[in-house]
Amino acid sequence: MSYESFYQRSVDDPDGFWAEQARRIDWQTPFDRTLDYRNPPFARWFCGGTTNLCHNALDRWLTSQPDALALIAVSAETGEERTFTFRQLHTEVNRTAAMLQSLGVGRGDRVLVYMPMIAEAHITLLACARIGAIHSVVFGGFASHSLAARIDDARPVLIVSADAGSRGGKVIPYKKLLDDAIALSHNPPPQVLLVDRGLADMPRVAGRDQDYATLREQHLEARVPVCWLESGEISCILYTSGTTGKPKGVQRDVGGYGVALATTMATIFGGKAGGVFFCTSDIGWVVGHSYIVYAPLLAGMATVVFEGTPTWPDCSQWWRIVEKYRVSRMFSAPTAIRVLKKFPTAQIRNHDLSSLEALYLAGEPLDEPTARWVTETLGIPVVDNYWQTESGWPIMALARALDDRPTRPGSPGMPVFGYNVQLVNEHTGELCGPDEKGMVVIEGPLPPGCIQTIWGDDARFVSTYWSLFERPVYATFDWGIRDQDGYYFILGRTDDVINVSGHRLGTREIEESISGYANVAEVAVVGVKDTLKGQVAVAFVIPKQGDSLLLADVAQQEEQAIQHRVDDNLGHFGRPARVYFVSRLPKTRSGKMLRRALQAVCEGRDPGDLTTIEDPEALREIQRVLGGPTARAG
Ligand code: AMP
Repeated sequence: MSYESFYQRSVDDPDGFWAEQARRIDWQTPFDRTLDYRNPPFARWFCGGTTNLCHNALDRWLTSQPDALALIAVSAETGEERTFTFRQLHTEVNRTAAMLQSLGVGRGDRVLVYMPMIAEAHITLLACARIGAIHSVVFGGFASHSLAARIDDARPVLIVSADAGSRGGKVIPYKKLLDDAIALSHNPPPQVLLVDRGLADMPRVAGRDQDYATLREQHLEARVPVCWLESGEISCILYTSGTTGKPKGVQRDVGGYGVALATTMATIFGGKAGGVFFCTSDIGWVVGHSYIVYAPLLAGMATVVFEGTPTWPDCSQWWRIVEKYRVSRMFSAPTAIRVLKKFPTAQIRNHDLSSLEALYLAGEPLDEPTARWVTETLGIPVVDNYWQTESGWPIMALARALDDRPTRPGSPGMPVFGYNVQLVNEHTGELCGPDEKGMVVIEGPLPPGCIQTIWGDDARFVSTYWSLFERPVYATFDWGIRDQDGYYFILGRTDDVINVSGHRLGTREIEESISGYANVAEVAVVGVKDTLKGQVAVAFVIPKQGDSLLLADVAQQEEQAIQHRVDDNLGHFGRPARVYFVSRLPKTRSGKMLRRALQAVCEGRDPGDLTTIEDPEALREIQRVLGGPTARAG
């Protein structure tokens, strides 16, 4: 079958298409209705069917390949390396499931996971899935304020964490950050389960903090039956940034998520049972959440959990793993490749990479020089794919197992099966023609595995994503363009969300953190192009007291203090690359910040239509400040 007909069937006859794909996973009770879309935009997939993600990831493989590798956990930081076969991983997950139950965790309860990339993190997620608990992973790069906001929203009955992680040789004190977050939280969790890696001091709170290893000893023989869940029950919540300071809890189901991931493994990622899949992302970002934790195991492949960076202590970290474990498919982000590009290729080529068949890159636009460099260096196909936390799996890609159309530099390809993608005019909602820039939207229903709703806030789900145009379509908030042959190109966000090294951040969150600094009267943060990281945050601050900032060294101290504050509140991805002090900010007469103009000026572009600007001098001042060698007071 050609890809075109495969795709067409998925949008013309979603019921028939997905009923077939659903055979890729085990169901305990068959579903009686493939799709219920009687209450748009809320789509329910595989109604009445019961299944379990942990069963499909592990138990299912116990008869056919119990001794095949399932999990490879490598820390380039501590030198630790552990492997688990499907049988061994199953045993560990049963133990952890029993531990969670002994702490009172049950079906529908939330478990927040704030952990470094270690085997226990993966095991905990599978254990949650086994007993029907809802897991919510919070990325370890987030600091206490961001974590507290997520704790308050998810209201977990348990948080699972560790003493520390490590990145580039630097210890990250998870437990300390967690304690700070719990102190800030309005809904502190009753219990915390802690893995002690011996990397940092870990004072315990009596009665609240439990020790993972001690509890595990008590459940060595545990066997916990799988909890069969109705397909539409909630498997997980994964927070993502929006344009308000409040993060959005992207809620996903059980059956739809399993079917979607299994289908992508067979069609896009070409996963074969017994192979090894190495996704270098983090379980706290959607790419890792889907393609480290679940998708490889659903396809019977081993998955790699890697702690570290690709360049510390040297550039051989990833490639050593590829060579040693015969990795066949790798998944990463363009930023990581841009970092590697700065080093001699010998550190990559010195390894036997003959097992590697393809590299997938997602999370941000893949620029042509990076794509060319990595294709030449590795000598394998590189597949750009476009998606979002909300989708959970690619919206655009070339589904290599079915599609042999050539790649086009800078393009993530064509819409993936299940997604009725369109480009529409930002103002009118009318369809764009070829080579005409518009917003990427998706006609409902969203396919299986996508966002069901925003956790606890159906109204926000509808108003955020489905109410931009007269016709209810899902808005991605990405600009796109389609060429004459149907290849799409993503041209950046339409909203105030920025993408730093493939990490999505709301400028609002960064502004809120900066506003709390004593000498800040007003602040605007925009994302500015960066050759390495894709984008970086840049802040413009109106100080309460500007006079002293006329002194360059005082301005520099204030800039650093603000950068540290963001580090502490949100984590280092949000840290503004520069903080400029100004006397006014460019706004419309109705008081709306002219962010696009601000961003354009920072990138040396034409600021566009300024007829609505209240005070044209504001933009001129910003131009002057940007031209200066150091930040100055206005
Ligand atoms: P996140 O939800 O953190 O995964 O970020 C999703 C956003 O990253 C999208 O809305 C896009 O702006 C951007 N993005 C993801 N993948 C790609 C890609 N392949 N090309 C261009 N932009 C991408």
